[in-house]
Amino acid sequence: MGGWGSGRSYSEKSTTSDMCALDIRRLNRDGMLEQGRLFKWQWLIDGEKVSDISIRVEIDRVILSYRTSSNGGEWQEMKYPVYLEWTPCSLGGRRAWFLCPAKGCGRRAAILFGGSIFACRHCHNLAYQCQRETNDDRAMRRAEKIRRRLEWEAGIANPDGGKPAWMHWRTFRQLKAKHDAFAETSWIGFSKKQGLIKP
Ligand SMILES: [Zn+2]
Repeated sequence: MGGWGSGRSYSEKSTTSDMCALDIRRLNRDGMLEQGRLFKWQWLIDGEKVSDISIRVEIDRVILSYRTSSNGGEWQEMKYPVYLEWTPCSLGGRRAWFLCPAKGCGRRAAILFGGSIFACRHCHNLAYQCQRETNDDRAMRRAEKIRRRLEWEAGIANPDGGKPAWMHWRTFRQLKAKHDAFAETSWIGFSKKQGLIKP
């Protein structure tokens, strides 16, 4: 990456549990909330980028822009402001907050969670999950992760391997069942995208 606009690129390592969480304390600590800054924030899983957004900092607000698609549908460009509020800290200095941009909310939040829109945890609809990763993408990633654990060749199109010598049968059977389910979900999604199956 790098060289995006006048800003700098920025990476955030993230686990699945905090996927697409935008933490203002971290942005502030890293000096990213200076007016006029323009930067990209990205989320990685297993070293792979699952999504990113660009953030422009203005007076008392940030402009988020990114693309979103729900479960393999058409990409939609999103761009909207999130207002900021600063409160004094008891030990001096001031603390930054996002004001949740969801309609009718406006709560102060330290963390916004990604979905089709970024919103506070009260508003965030878990059904959206992380925006850019579709259900079948997620299923594919999970199937691949299991393949690595089973020491099988990468790629769900490849034949399955056997049980690693060191693994208990019980564990193996559980992992294999999960793998098969994820692989199937992934294939169905892929086929739909290719127009092989009518949704
Ligand atoms: Zn909210």
